[in-house]
Amino acid sequence: MAAQTPPRAEVTVDLGAVRHNVALLAARAGDAETMAVVKADGYGHGAVEVARAALEAGATWLGSCSAAEAAALRAAGIDAPILAWLDVPGAEVPPDVDLAVSSVEQLRGLSGRRIHLKIDTGLCRNGCPHELWPDLVKAAAASDNEVYAVWSHLACADEPGHPSVDSQAKRFADAYQVALDAGLTPKRHLANSAATLDRPDLRFDMVRVGIAMYGLNPLPTKEDLRPAMTFRSSVALTKRIDAGKSVSYGQSWTAERPTTLALVPVGYADGVPRLLSGRFDVLLGGIRRPVRGRVCMDQILVDCGDDEVRVGDEVVLFGPGDRGEPTAREWADTLGTIDYEIVTGMYRPRLVRRYVG
Ligand SMILES: *Cc1c(COP(=O)(O)O)cnc(C)c1O
Repeated sequence: MAAQTPPRAEVTVDLGAVRHNVALLAARAGDAETMAVVKADGYGHGAVEVARAALEAGATWLGSCSAAEAAALRAAGIDAPILAWLDVPGAEVPPDVDLAVSSVEQLRGLSGRRIHLKIDTGLCRNGCPHELWPDLVKAAAASDNEVYAVWSHLACADEPGHPSVDSQAKRFADAYQVALDAGLTPKRHLANSAATLDRPDLRFDMVRVGIAMYGLNPLPTKEDLRPAMTFRSSVALTKRIDAGKSVSYGQSWTAERPTTLALVPVGYADGVPRLLSGRFDVLLGGIRRPVRGRVCMDQILVDCGDDEVRVGDEVVLFGPGDRGEPTAREWADTLGTIDYEIVTGMYRPRLVRRYVG
């Protein structure tokens, strides 16, 4: 057998980790059903593969944003119930996919659909404002659509104890009562990952879990979640440089002593943010080593000192952290963003995605 070619830019997704996380979340959901949120191509992990793993591990619903995302799940032969929550007017959502409705205008033109009425309880994003809610409920009850659920989304569930969570829960209860008074008997769903873990009282009939299913913890507390994504490359070239040599565009870093550089053929075109320049490490040969100079479109340079490194050696850019490699959370903290953005940004045609577990 030919030796395996080392990866240039590869995202490995551990479906065993996804199953572990979903099983944990489904257990925490108790009697509530678990919706696996696979929007944005499964937060960059691959929607179809993650959806299948999640359904195996106890999820019973899938959540998508756009019509095309829902259609792709159906085209892959997945027949679990799906809720598609946001697209533009006229977007063609497959008939057997549930729709979110936030306004009377959105309801118009819908016939024979299963719908989830969304109340804006304080996020001020998607959802029906409180004052328009009774009219929306009335119109939905009078239509020939099936009102399957009333739902909403939380603004600050990742900050345990934040007062907005209770006030949103209170408005949610009021909105549900309006639906009951109109003769409807809808189910309810409100919790995202953070609320699923932190607020047992808000699980209702279903929880909608995204980030935690991918093993990233939205809460400051410790949870037994396993990050599913690892980003890897390999050394393409090594070179010895003298003290005083400057590295990469702009020559922003200068060697103080002779050192060995490992050139790794990934850059900002592969999801390594240029803003990480001079501020991050990679794992190379089992050791964390600093990346020097600017991140280029296709290349970064790792400072290996006097250690021996070879072309083809594995380079881990981020992963679960078990071997001491950086994590997506670490990149996010350095950049002043959230790990959601890091992993979701790893959906790129130049990256090879591989599934394990
Ligand atoms: C993305 C999303 C979720 C999942 O949120 P996480 O914080 O990733 O668990 C749940 N509900 C809605 C409406 C969403 O848009």
